[in-house]
Parts: sequence; C-alpha cells; structure tokens
Amino acid sequence: MPYSVVIAKPTKECNADCSYCSAPPDGAERWTLDDFKLILDRLSGNLTPRVDWIWHGGEPMLMQPDFFRACAEYAQAQGIKLNFAMQTNLLSYDTARWKGVFEEVFEGRISTSYDPYKKYRTVKGNADTYDRLFWRAMDAAIRDGFRPLVIGVYDEGSAQDAQGIYERAVAYGNHGFDIRFNYAYPAGRAKESGMLIKPSTYGRMLLDLFERWIDEMPAFNITPLDQMLAKVAGHRAQLCPWTKSCGGRFLTIDPDGSVFNCSEFSDLGDRKYRFGNILTGVIDSEVQSVDVRTYIGSEIVPALASSPASRDIIRRARNVPPDCRSCPHFQECEGGCARDAVLFEKGLGGKFAYCESWKMVFSRLKESVLSGEADRALYRLGIDPVAARHRLTASELIAAC
Ligand code: SF4
Ligand code: SF4
Repeated sequence: MPYSVVIAKPTKECNADCSYCSAPPDGAERWTLDDFKLILDRLSGNLTPRVDWIWHGGEPMLMQPDFFRACAEYAQAQGIKLNFAMQTNLLSYDTARWKGVFEEVFEGRISTSYDPYKKYRTVKGNADTYDRLFWRAMDAAIRDGFRPLVIGVYDEGSAQDAQGIYERAVAYGNHGFDIRFNYAYPAGRAKESGMLIKPSTYGRMLLDLFERWIDEMPAFNITPLDQMLAKVAGHRAQLCPWTKSCGGRFLTIDPDGSVFNCSEFSDLGDRKYRFGNILTGVIDSEVQSVDVRTYIGSEIVPALASSPASRDIIRRARNVPPDCRSCPHFQECEGGCARDAVLFEKGLGGKFAYCESWKMVFSRLKESVLSGEADRALYRLGIDPVAARHRLTASELIAAC
C-alpha cells in the first residue's frame, strides 16, 4: 500500500467463445456505474497520486463507451488521477463509436490478444468470423492512429507459428504493432491441461524471434525480449513478470468484487490467493470459511492489504528458492514472479517452471549486449549500450570473485 495499479474486470462476459479462454464468463452481473463509484470511494486514500487503471475482462468493450466516459468523469470529479488503459479483444472496435474514447479516456493505452491457433479462437463457434472481425478492427484502430500491443499465448504445437504474427506486424511497416509472446498456462477453460509448452520449446521460440528481431530491428518491439534486455542492462522493466514488487502495489477486482493481486492470480481461480471482496467487505482467512471477518467502508481496503494472501505474495519477493540466489541471472530474473512461482501446484515458494527458458534467453541477451550486437535495440529502449556493457562486465567480475 498504497496501490499504484488497479486491474478492473467489470464483466467476464465476452463476445467470443475461445476454447482456451483463461477468464471465461463466471455468471456475475456486470458492474454498474454505481459499483465503480463505490469501489473507487473505498480505494480512495489507499492509492498513489497517479494510478494505472487497466480495464480487463472478460471483454471490457461490452461495457460500452458511455460507461468508460462516466467512470473517467467521476474519478476526475473526486480529484483522483487515473491513467485508464484497456486490454480487449478489440472485436467491437469501430471508428465512430470508439475512436473518441480510445483517444480521450485511454490516450491510446490499448492492448489486445491474438493467438496463433485459429481454430481455438471463435465467435459463435466460427474461427473465420473471429479472424475477419479481429483484423478488420486492427486495421481500423491502426488507421485511427493507435498501435495496440498484441499479446499471444503459445503452446507446444503453435510455437512454430510465432513468426506468423511477426510477419503481420512487419506488413504494417512503420505502424507495426508491438507483440508480446507468452507461454500458454493452465487457467480458465484450459485449467486441467497441465504444462502446455515445454520450457525448452518456449525458450527456443524466443531465441528464434530474437535472432530475427535483432538483425532486422523493425518498427516494433517484442516482449519479453525488450523487458529482459532492459533488465540485463540494469534498468527497471515495467511489464509483468518483471515488476517484482507488485505485491502491495497491484490490485485486481473481479466482477463480483473479489480481489486478487493481479489478473493472473484471478485467472487461476484459487481461493487461497484471494484477498477478500471489496464490495461485500468480507476478508478471506487462511482457512476458508473459518474466522471470516466483514469490514465496512474505509476499513475494507486496509483489511484486504493485510489479508493472508496479500501478505504471502508480498513475502514471495524475498522468499525465493535457494538455488536462485546462486544463479548467474538472479539479478535480472529475481527468482520469477509470484504468479509464475505458483503454477503447477508449486505454491508461493515454488521454483519457476520456465526457469530453463529464461536461462536460455538471458544467456543469449548478455552475449549480445557484450558483443555490441544489441546496441541498436538498447538505443531504442533509451539505454546507453556502453553503460550496459560496463554493468554486465562488472557484475560478471563480482560473480567470479
Ligand atoms: S505476480 Fe507476476 S504476473 Fe502478477 S503482477 Fe506480479 S509480476 Fe505480474
Ligand atoms: S533463471 Fe531460474 S534459477 Fe535463475 S533466478 Fe530465474 S528462476 Fe531462479
């Protein structure tokens, strides 16, 4: 506390029906404007002077433009400065209804998702419809001057298609969108799927992308490579999973008011990582349904911050697996983030399952920084390559002592 990032899920309803969705409809009612006002009133006094407020879902665009305008007006009237952003499937974007809101309320802070397996992305069961609506919306959004970050999740079978989305971004020339390549993980409709991509496959996929990106330096960035490069150069990275101090700074609020650290924890749907409920004031205890306490008004957010799940996640930043501390990449990786640690039933003390992928990529990035190969990428990230080399050489010397 105070919180600097709020991820708000006003609905988990969606206009698509993808078979791997990590946050499928949960039956809860959509937020009304009054729900937003109540939540913001309760958060008031527990927020940093400027807060990143990310609308998420489900599909947040189902809430319609007037809802987002009214929320922004209410926040402004209360003197609370919120940087609104949105993570959306973009399917309902059209210039006449949305351009103004994207510009005035979100100031272009839009990200979207597009996964390589066409057959799993469907609207009313039809993959062609999804594809047609998505690229029509992207074309319109890019024409309107936006560059949505496109996030995709990759499994063992689709890793080979990572170059396909790279090609799509290249085709937009100077308007090419930034891309994020994530590993698919078991949550939502894919909860029982186990490990969906091997760490070696995910690492190889990122390395193949790196070889091409570093050689061509197109107009767009690739995450997590850019964030990892920043960490190698000794800079702070802004995006997950590199925002290691999220515990106590991030809050995610589900449609029913349930509160988790972040959207990724919410997607896991595991009650032991839930803080409580900001609408009802119920705070979760260590043992479910025992000793549950209910708070009111301004007591609620401090009580959520003190809940067992919140305290455990804050502690994870320090309680990393012992072998991480002797890892040559510990300064950059910091032992994996809290959500990454708990995947595959490992719990908050768990070893990050994709450790091998990070080791593969960090080793290659370090080599690239030291040889000067990464200079153009570093300049683009606003990082001095000479200082980056100096930092790497110094830390390698310290490690050798
Ligand atoms: S736990 Fe990981 S995914 Fe969640 S906010 Fe923190 S860094 Fe991001
Ligand atoms: S790369 Fe692996 S061993 Fe090294 S700090 Fe990260 S999780 Fe730990």
